[in-house]
Amino acid sequence: MPQNPIRATAVFKQLMKAHYAELAGAASSGRKLAWCTSMGQVELLRAFGLAIYFPENHGALLGATRRCMDYIPVANGAGYSPEICSYLTSDVGAYLKGETPLKESYGMEKVPRPDVLFYNTNQCRELVDWFMFYHRRLGVPCIGINTPRHIDQLTKEHVESVAAQERALVGPLEDISGVGFDEGRLSDIVALSRDASVLWKRALEYARARPSPMTFWDGTIHMGPIVVMRGLTEAVDYYRALSTEMGERVKAGVAAVPGERFRIFWDGMPVWGRIRMLSELFEKHRVSVVASTYCNTWALDGLDPSRPFESMASEYTGLHINRNDERKMDYFKRMAKDYSIDGFVFHNARTCPATSNTDFGLPTRLEEDTGIPALVLDGDLCDLRCFSDDQARTAIEAFIEQLGGVGSGGDPR
Ligand code: SF4
Repeated sequence: MPQNPIRATAVFKQLMKAHYAELAGAASSGRKLAWCTSMGQVELLRAFGLAIYFPENHGALLGATRRCMDYIPVANGAGYSPEICSYLTSDVGAYLKGETPLKESYGMEKVPRPDVLFYNTNQCRELVDWFMFYHRRLGVPCIGINTPRHIDQLTKEHVESVAAQERALVGPLEDISGVGFDEGRLSDIVALSRDASVLWKRALEYARARPSPMTFWDGTIHMGPIVVMRGLTEAVDYYRALSTEMGERVKAGVAAVPGERFRIFWDGMPVWGRIRMLSELFEKHRVSVVASTYCNTWALDGLDPSRPFESMASEYTGLHINRNDERKMDYFKRMAKDYSIDGFVFHNARTCPATSNTDFGLPTRLEEDTGIPALVLDGDLCDLRCFSDDQARTAIEAFIEQLGGVGSGGDPR
């Protein structure tokens, strides 16, 4: 239990309940429903009045409840390798077993049936394979955006090619939804996504303060609405309240980690089934994990309602995960400066090379360039067979000891 709980958490719980109630209602009222990858152009889908379900949110729930450990072997038995995305194997295994944690969490008997599967390859290829499983099983269309990958600078050509793909999906989405396209409606939705993003980013940026009013662990909760509700007024209202609360906490000197000694940047996915263990471990040593690539991913503040297609193309293509190592290095250096970072933790998620920036020497180069220590922590987003509590504790405690020698935090006592 955090010592200084965040008020908005109560609202967050209500919002997520409302989100799943909406999905359950769509199934029973005949409203058309899309599945969307978490960094897909959700604004475009909303412009056709579709209800939207995010399988990666289900994957995170399977990980956080640790139910994934029952389901990954089921997917492995169906021919899906234990080495591939454990969101995919958790979700597919749960489907094959006919179970879902949505039942206990939100009263839903099963995940809502899609009328269309909409992907964006900006994160990884696994999402397409994941959606194609359901395409084959359920016989529903699978459409999407094939984004140029691992880009250096985002160019006009990148943006034009992705915007053209978005425009080409208007016709198929009209057919699937039975709703005619209205660009004004799309612009309004893009404006709502932009507003929620700006406020989410503002809330995260309050963590530049010392002590930080929130941590990455808090962020993994409060990011829920920006993932599943961007493009809706509810998300804007939520992030207005959250950012106001963070501002008040900074003014009042409320620390997410009382006695904050050191400040960490987390790169990569959370270890969903070990959030509590990790947050308590860092807090015990008065180390605040103040920023992350993960939470910042959804701060799509460059969306522009006057250029809905182009700005969606630009934001969804220019994501951190879709950049080459040089641009990622720039980002890490900027974040280190902005958030007064004493150390980096790079989560090497075994089944997600897409978010693990650990295999090609980046943490070592970053350490050499900045003088800021970097720890590579082996684990996984869902599959706890890849995570050892004892090894993680030993590695993190040794790392914190190292920060004591080189960090700027000092001991406030
Ligand atoms: S980015 Fe990683 S966790 Fe997300 S769908 Fe792709 S492989 Fe899975």
